[in-house]
Amino acid sequence: MTTPAPASPDQSPAPHASDVSPRTLAVSAGRPPRAPGGALNPPVVLTSTFVSQGAPTAGEHLYGRIGTPAWEPFEEALAALERIDHVATGRRTDGPPATVFASGMAAIDAALSLVPLGGRVVVPRHAYQVTLVLLREQAERGLLRVDAVDVADTDAVVAAVRGTGDDAPAALLWLESPTNPMLEVADVAALVAAAHDVGALVVVDSTFATPLVQRPLALGADVVVHSVTKYLAGHSDVVLGATVTDDPALHARLVAHRTTHGAIAGPFEVWLALRGLRTLALRVERAQANAGELARRLAAHPGVAEVRYPGLPGDPGHARAAAQMDGFGAIIGLRPAGGAAAADALVAAVALWVPATSLGGVESTLERRRRFATESPTVPEDLVRLSVGVEDVEDLWRDLDAALAAAVPSAG
Ligand SMILES: *Cc1c(COP(=O)(O)O)cnc(C)c1O
Repeated sequence: MTTPAPASPDQSPAPHASDVSPRTLAVSAGRPPRAPGGALNPPVVLTSTFVSQGAPTAGEHLYGRIGTPAWEPFEEALAALERIDHVATGRRTDGPPATVFASGMAAIDAALSLVPLGGRVVVPRHAYQVTLVLLREQAERGLLRVDAVDVADTDAVVAAVRGTGDDAPAALLWLESPTNPMLEVADVAALVAAAHDVGALVVVDSTFATPLVQRPLALGADVVVHSVTKYLAGHSDVVLGATVTDDPALHARLVAHRTTHGAIAGPFEVWLALRGLRTLALRVERAQANAGELARRLAAHPGVAEVRYPGLPGDPGHARAAAQMDGFGAIIGLRPAGGAAAADALVAAVALWVPATSLGGVESTLERRRRFATESPTVPEDLVRLSVGVEDVEDLWRDLDAALAAAVPSAG
């Protein structure tokens, strides 16, 4: 009788992206190699410094700002999730890992470093407000030029990307879809094709969708950006960001930017983000189901003037979202009847919902976006952004319905 050989790490049957669904991959990717007695979870690695001498070899760990095993399991798992559609479409299943940053904004800053000096950036007029602030700041310093467009208007975006008159074609098309906070939906594949036609790079901030709902790389985008703070980590307890690309040269530039500019993630934060990622499918599916139900009820509520949610059949972004996404996300734009005063009253009247900024946590939050002076002036004053969490939908509805009755007395 022969004794079976003990499992060795390099024989471990690590699930491959082509074998399993994204729901499974969120649980199984980024694990240490299987070995008897080995840890199921990657450890928190607390060291600034690695033992080394001589000329560094590729991938060798040297120093915590350059690269550390504290980041790698999360970077591997997120890249596997973003790349999953490539399997379905017969495209590459492998590629560089994600690049984790200290915040979503640090990841966005790194992605903007891909624009050559003086290059033109086409950007949605409604996008994460601090992205627009950063672009404006870089434009004022002469680093780049910015053209803001209605991202749902494909013809207008294509025209801006091509440039008119003396304008050179854009160097970068920045997309956010659905947009924060207006929930506009871009035709990502069509816009990517137009941008690539003129040699522009395409970056998609896919924070609202998560890789379970939308895979921009499969739609042709060059780089995906996430505020990991939101759904990926999912528990409102860390601030982190990440980029993902299929292109090894772009990956190298993003990593080099992180190394030089130093906006690196802490080991504990990345460990928490990977822990959060394990339940991404459960959280997103529940939050999305809750959001769909609440959006339907809100659309029929007498205290509501307008609801924006791509999952509503009447929403301007519905057909596009249905074609390019695997769901509609869990963010709702709500304009109560009665204007900005009613919006403030609504936010003040909730008991279970939390008045707060940010989004994508397990808890439901809401805020009137124009309370920030930096929010785009074309966002309506009375727009309340709801981030729907995973609580019982009937509890969420009772609280919202009562708050609407208090905020919009005529609707009571
Ligand atoms: C929150 C957010 C960001 C910024 O991320 P931070 O982690 O807060 O730096 C960028 N884009 C979108 C769509 C966001 O919601």
